[in-house]
Amino acid sequence: MPIIRVALNIPVDTLFDYQATDATGHDVGLRACVPFGKKWLTGIIIAVSSETQVPPEKLKSAQDIFRDVAPLPVALLDLFHFCSHYYHHPLGMVVMNGLPGKLRGNKPIKLKESSNNYQFSLTKTGKQIELSSIPARNRVARRLFTELNHSAVLTRADAKQISPRALKLLKEWIQLGWVSIIPVPAVTLPKTAKIPHLTHEQQIAVNAITIEIKQFNTWLLHGITGSGKTEVYLRIIEQVLAQGKQTLVLIPEISLTPQLEATFRARFPTTHLVSLHSGLNDTERLSGWLQAQRGEAKIILGTRLAVFTPLPHLGLVIVDEEQDSSFKQQDGLRYSARDLAVFRARQTDIPVVLGSATPSLESYYNALNGRYRSVRLQSRAIENAALPMIQCIDTRTHKIQEGLSDPLIKALDKCLAEKHQSLIFINRRGYAPVLLCKSCAWTATCQRCSSRLVVHLRDKQLCCHHCGHQEHFPRACPHCGNQDIAPFGQGTQRVEDALAARFPDARILRIDRDSIRRKNAWHNILQQIHAQAVDILVGTQLLAKGHDFPNLSLVGILNSDASLYSTDFRASERLFTQLMQVAGRAGRANVAGHVLIQTEFPDHPLYHALQRHDYDALAQTLLAERKMAGFPPFVYQALLRAEARNIQVVLDFLTQASHLAEPSQSIEIFDPVPAQMIRLKGMERAHLLVQSLSRRQLQEFLAKWVTQINTLPTHKVRWVLDVDPLEF
Ligand code: ADP
Ligand code: ZN
Ligand code: ZN
Repeated sequence: MPIIRVALNIPVDTLFDYQATDATGHDVGLRACVPFGKKWLTGIIIAVSSETQVPPEKLKSAQDIFRDVAPLPVALLDLFHFCSHYYHHPLGMVVMNGLPGKLRGNKPIKLKESSNNYQFSLTKTGKQIELSSIPARNRVARRLFTELNHSAVLTRADAKQISPRALKLLKEWIQLGWVSIIPVPAVTLPKTAKIPHLTHEQQIAVNAITIEIKQFNTWLLHGITGSGKTEVYLRIIEQVLAQGKQTLVLIPEISLTPQLEATFRARFPTTHLVSLHSGLNDTERLSGWLQAQRGEAKIILGTRLAVFTPLPHLGLVIVDEEQDSSFKQQDGLRYSARDLAVFRARQTDIPVVLGSATPSLESYYNALNGRYRSVRLQSRAIENAALPMIQCIDTRTHKIQEGLSDPLIKALDKCLAEKHQSLIFINRRGYAPVLLCKSCAWTATCQRCSSRLVVHLRDKQLCCHHCGHQEHFPRACPHCGNQDIAPFGQGTQRVEDALAARFPDARILRIDRDSIRRKNAWHNILQQIHAQAVDILVGTQLLAKGHDFPNLSLVGILNSDASLYSTDFRASERLFTQLMQVAGRAGRANVAGHVLIQTEFPDHPLYHALQRHDYDALAQTLLAERKMAGFPPFVYQALLRAEARNIQVVLDFLTQASHLAEPSQSIEIFDPVPAQMIRLKGMERAHLLVQSLSRRQLQEFLAKWVTQINTLPTHKVRWVLDVDPLEF
C-alpha cells in the first residue's frame, strides 16, 4: 500500500505519513486531507513511498487526495524547501503561507472555468423583450436589463457591481435565451501608449540586461527618481514575452498596483496579465494564481506574496523599489520576498532586476563587491526635467506656526499663484501625536501597548496606531484633574486644517491611511490629482512612492528630524530613502521642482547629501559606520523574538535559550533585551540577537539551535526566529 508523506500547517518541522490506496509517484505536490488528532488537516504531499517508520497499528489513512488543480511544480516545492531551511520555519507552514486561501481548506475547490474571460450580451430574443415585461418590484432585474440594453456587453465585474444577485439572474436569462456569453476579445485596449525613444542611459541598461537574458544574474538597476526605470522594465519584458516566457514583477505597495498595471496593460494590450495583491478576494486570487500556474498569464504583477506563485515558464523577475521594507513579512514566516526572488532567478537560471533610486545598503554593497551587477540611470528621462532644488529651512531661526514656517507658506503662495500643485509631507496621520496635560505633563497612553494615543479630533477619539484601540477624549486630566489638556505636535489632519485656514481658496486633499480606507479611494484620489482638481496635497509616506504627478512643483517636508538620532541603525537609511522619494515627486515633467525641509539640523550630513542628490555619498558614510560598528551588510543577523504576558517570563526564556547555544568563535550571541516597543497588544516582548561574519556558519548554528530551543518548555511564551531582521 503506498504511503504519502505530507507537510502539514502545524508548528512541527516533520512530515507525516499516511496510507493512501490510490497514490502514485505523480501525486507529489498535490493536496491531501488527512486525520490529525481529532481534526482533519490539509497539507501538501512531499513524497510518495512504499515504506514508513510509523508502526502499522498507528498508521492512519488519508481521507482524500485532491486532484482539482495540477500538482505544485517541483521548482515551487524547491522554493518552499529553501524557504523552510533558510528561515527555520516548518515546511508545512511555509507551504500553506504561500498558497491561496482557497487551497488551504479541507475540501476540493470547484472551478468556474476562467469565467473572467467572458462577457454577457443580449441576444436577438433578449433585445425584443420590453422592459415593462419585467415586474417593477424586480428592481435588480430591471437595472441589469437596462444596463445590458445600454452597453453592448457587460463583464462579470460590471454585473456584480449592479448587484451580487445579478450573476444568478444572468444565468436564468441565458437559459431563457435572452442573454449569451461571449468571450472577451483578446485586444481590449486600443494601442494608444506612445513608446518613447530610450535615453542613452536607458539603452545601455536594456542592452546590458537583455544580452544575458537567458542566464542568472542579479542586476541592480540604480536610477534616480524619474529616470525611467519602468521603461527599462518594459523593454526587457518585451524580449521575454517574445520568447513566450513569463515575467514576475514584484512591487511594494498595493496603492501602486493600479498605476503600474495600467502602464503595463497599455504597453502590452494583448498580453495576458494578472495582478496578485492583498486587495483581491480569495476567488480572484485563486483565479490569478491558476492562470499563472497554467502558464496562461505572461505577466504577473504582485506584492510580496506573489513570489510564491507557480510559474512554469518563468523568464524574468523584477523587484521594483527593492529597498522597500514591505517585501519583508513582519509576522509568522518572516521571509524577504526580494531575497526569495533572487533565489527563484538563480534556480531558474534567469535574470532578476532589482530597481531602486535608493537601493538598500545590502544590495548596494553587493553591487560594490561584484555579487550583483549594477546599471545606473543618473539623469531624468524626460527632457528638461531637472532634479528638484532641495533646501533646508532652519526652524531655530524661523518661527513655526501650526507646523508651518514663513518661508514654506510663501513658497506655497507662489506655487498656488502659478497654478502648480504642492505637497506637504508629514509622516504622522491623525490630528496630533500626543494629548498632553499642561499642568502635570500627563500624556494619554495605550493600555495595551507602550505607545502614546494619537488625537483624532474629528472623531473626538484617541486612537492607538499599533493595536487599533480607541477611546473617548477625557474631559479633564485623569491624573491631576486639570481641564487644560491639549493636542501637542502635528499630524496630517492638523496640517490640513492649518492649510485650510491659511489658504481658504485652495483645494486641499489629505492622503493617509485614514483617508484611503474606502474602496476605490486611491483611484479617485489619483484621478483628482491628475485632473488638476487639487492644489495642495497633505500626506504621509503613502504619497512618497512611485507616483508620477506631472504638475507638482513644490514639496514641503515637516517633522523629519526625529529619525536622525534614532537608536535603530537603519533609521538614517530609511529616512534618506523616504525623503529622496518624496523629493522625487517634484518637477517630474516640465515644471521645475523645489523641496523645502523644515529642520533644526540643517547641517546634518544626511540633509547635505540629500541637497546634492548624492546617494553614493550617504551610502558610503553609512557603510563605513556599519563596518565600524559591525552591522549588516558586514555581518549576518538573526533575532530570536519572544513574547508573553510578562516581560520577566520572556527574558527568562531567552536567557535559557542563550544557554543552550554552543559557544563558537564564529557566532556572536548578545544578551536578551526588551523590544523597542516593549508592550504590543497586551503582550510584552523581548529578543536575543545572534550574528556572524559568515552566512553559512550562522545558518549551521541556527539549525542546531532551533532544535534545542524546541525542547524548552514554552507554554507561556510565543517565539519565532527572524532571519535577516529589519525591525528590532
Ligand atoms: P522612475 O520609476 O525611474 O522614477 P518612471 O519610470 O516613473 O521613473 O519615469 C518617469 C517619467 O519619464 C515617466 O513619465 C515616463 O513616462 C517618462 N519616460 C521614461 N522614459 C522616457 C524616455 N525614454 N523618453 C521620454 N520620457 C520617458
Ligand atoms: Zn494633569
Ligand atoms: Zn495599543
